Amino acid sequence: MVEIFDQLDTETNSTLFAELLLPVPIPKLFTYRVPQSLNEKIMVGQRAIVPFGDRKILTGVVVSTHSNPPKDYEAKYIFELLDDFPSVSEIQFKLFQWIADYYLCTIGEVMNAALPSGLKLSSESMVQLNPAFNLEETDYDFSEKERMLLKRLEGESLEYSAISKLLGVKQVYSLLKSLVRKEAIILYEEVKEKYKPRTERRIRLTEAYLAAPTLETLFETLAAKPKQESIVLKYLQDVPVLSHAEQNKHGIARKQLMDDTLSESSLNTLIKNGVLEEFDVIVSRFEEETLPDYHIIQLSEEQHRAQVEILASFKDHNTTLLQGVTGSGKTELYINMIRQALEGGSQVLYLLPEIALTTQIVQRLKKIFGTSMGVYHSKFSDNERVEVWNGILNGRFKFVVGVRSAIFLPFDNLGLIIVDEEHDSSYKQQEPAPRYHARDVAMVMAQLHHAKVLLGSATPAVETYYQALQGKYGYVKLDKRFGEAQLPTLVLADMGRERKQKTIKGEFSGLLLKNIDEALAKKEQVIIFQNRRGYSPMVNCEDCGWVPKCVNCAVSLTYHQYRHALVCHYCGYREALPQHCPTCSSTRIKTVGYGTEKLEEELKFHFPEAHVQRMDLDTTRSKTGYETIIDQFERGETNILVGTQMVTKGLDFDHVSLVGIFNADRMIHFPDFRSYERAFQLITQVSGRAGRRAVAGKVVIQTSSPDHPLLETILKHSFEKFYNDQLADRRMHSYPPFSRLIDVTLKHSDKKICQASATALFELLRTALPGTKILGPGEPMISKIRNQFLMSLLIKIPRGSSELAVLKQALVKCIYQLLKEKEHRNTRVVMDVDPV
Ligand code: ADP
Ligand code: ZN
Ligand code: ZN
Repeated sequence: MVEIFDQLDTETNSTLFAELLLPVPIPKLFTYRVPQSLNEKIMVGQRAIVPFGDRKILTGVVVSTHSNPPKDYEAKYIFELLDDFPSVSEIQFKLFQWIADYYLCTIGEVMNAALPSGLKLSSESMVQLNPAFNLEETDYDFSEKERMLLKRLEGESLEYSAISKLLGVKQVYSLLKSLVRKEAIILYEEVKEKYKPRTERRIRLTEAYLAAPTLETLFETLAAKPKQESIVLKYLQDVPVLSHAEQNKHGIARKQLMDDTLSESSLNTLIKNGVLEEFDVIVSRFEEETLPDYHIIQLSEEQHRAQVEILASFKDHNTTLLQGVTGSGKTELYINMIRQALEGGSQVLYLLPEIALTTQIVQRLKKIFGTSMGVYHSKFSDNERVEVWNGILNGRFKFVVGVRSAIFLPFDNLGLIIVDEEHDSSYKQQEPAPRYHARDVAMVMAQLHHAKVLLGSATPAVETYYQALQGKYGYVKLDKRFGEAQLPTLVLADMGRERKQKTIKGEFSGLLLKNIDEALAKKEQVIIFQNRRGYSPMVNCEDCGWVPKCVNCAVSLTYHQYRHALVCHYCGYREALPQHCPTCSSTRIKTVGYGTEKLEEELKFHFPEAHVQRMDLDTTRSKTGYETIIDQFERGETNILVGTQMVTKGLDFDHVSLVGIFNADRMIHFPDFRSYERAFQLITQVSGRAGRRAVAGKVVIQTSSPDHPLLETILKHSFEKFYNDQLADRRMHSYPPFSRLIDVTLKHSDKKICQASATALFELLRTALPGTKILGPGEPMISKIRNQFLMSLLIKIPRGSSELAVLKQALVKCIYQLLKEKEHRNTRVVMDVDPV
């Protein structure tokens, strides 16, 4: 804890200044004066607490020190430095700056995203007794409640939040105000570090009993007190202090010492009598000592060849793409490469999409790399994130497996970055800024470290594939599944024909039902994929066509049967399902379409013997929800797993012989230039969950357009054809990789103003960027979210344009210019570079 307000203005003649990076959306550094007392301590990369504006206190990072006072304002003092060593390295600064420049945001925003909030500070209002106050001598009257609070405050300050818990939020404000007026209490701000180390209570022998003779005397005294005696005996058994006296220093965890047979009160007596003593130590939140089990997998011939090729390609490429079909052993290859890099003494970062990371793979890697491996993902608490961050700084973690935000971690000696499932769109941050793409940042990061990047995927992004074809990236392929496993057979369930033949039951084709039946009979497992959660994505009135819409967003509400409610998936708004149509009073209100909940219900109906599990956002909200479902499936307790795209990613099960895919049509016909690519990737990835071992795999795709050329390409596993078609298409319409896109979205609560701002910006851009293609302005597919109307513009910049940076600067200028005008001042403008 750092007290700040009394430290102000104590020194006036320090001549050292520091440039600080602050977590605010203002694109500049801020100059502060370094108090004399900190002149010796200050280092680039340390965190500093500073005053900002009138009342705010912020955590910044020192970028440089110098002796030039700012010209146009009086620099404020740094209050305190938080670290003894730098928390942010020079390489990280460079990377942060690159992200800010490239993705058009401020370096403060980057830093805000980068530092786990446990490393930032919060300030808390505190309440204490006024030292000059004396209850006996004051003329004021005090209520019972006030007296109670004053009593509580004797000898300790309390947090405002603790007091509101004590008294209830409604009362606390007026009560404190009254006490301040009566000069009984003082309110002040205290800055706290949010990170709280975990401590463990330990026990050891006191100094006095460390020598053999005193111990002997002790046992003589304890002879009549067998309960105490057994505790001391147990201690000596666990901690051999006589042969290794120094071990007493560390003692033993109280929990570990005390088994069920020992008496807590006797222990307390021993402590009271000065035989044993208690002390606290800081312990890691991650297990300390599971030893890795070094079973090394022999790479197959095919895999070995791929590895040799990758290493060779690194000689003249910084980045190499490994395109390996699902189940070909990419992960085994990564493990091999990671081990080599670690043995060479460098750090390794292994990036995975969010959801793939939370389970199987971590267990697989832990077995090999033990606890020297750090894990970084969003289900971790702040405290845990801080420990991973610090663990890299202090050398405990040389290898981190993490999600996109792991690119911010303070590595200083990276040798290898692996981006697994590099095509996955969860590598792109959407909201808030910085809207970065972790794969692309990883390549810049690798350059700064002189490290190599290995991109892996069965279905690379079209952009990545193109760079590999062009020879910009190295390119290595793994065409065969490992061992006996074959790629699954894909078949189409023609829904049009089945409808005529009346073989469809509910949402299921006869073909899929028959296949599920057969798989279950053979005790094989089934995965059903449908990319919509909830029961049905829409509800309508059969008589007048009324559809319930969100009150805040321009979307229809999804019906969730489990919660018995209509829910908006964009803002969380909820309402009950009406009994009567509000426009025509009809009671014929029907659900339209189907989500995972409905499929789960139908599966249970069709296969009452089978155990069906659902995996989607709604069933995996808790920290372990995802893991539990996966574990049950892995152990074979679940026969059918139905889920959203969570079931498509990176899972490796032994007994899945069938995958069913719903709604391929919707994926294919989605109006976006990437829809074919997405459909191709999703269908191929989820198919890849089938038949990964000896059992042959089958995939049934339900579709109403069985002749669609994309489905044919997927059915035949003709990857090359898919990419060539896509590239031809993108070239013709000048989409990435043949251009770069910047998406500009304008937001305002007034539709008219939003439209006017969009038009005004369009005109500004047309003048400022002659010759650049600007599409729009137009309404995006969802034109209102959380009561903000949206308009968007799309800027297309030819690939390889040397003017990219100049164009971006011109864009930023136009936006500043727009926002300076009175009528547009309250419009929010969001820039998204390389949107996905
Ligand atoms: P991918 O990451 O390409 O989908 P994996 O690395 O998960 O493939 O491999 C698929 C399965 O085959 C895994 O269970 C893996 O342990 C196993 N496997 C792959 N290569 C080998 C090998 N050389 N020896 C033994 N098992 C292997
Ligand atoms: Zn109606
Ligand atoms: Zn909504």
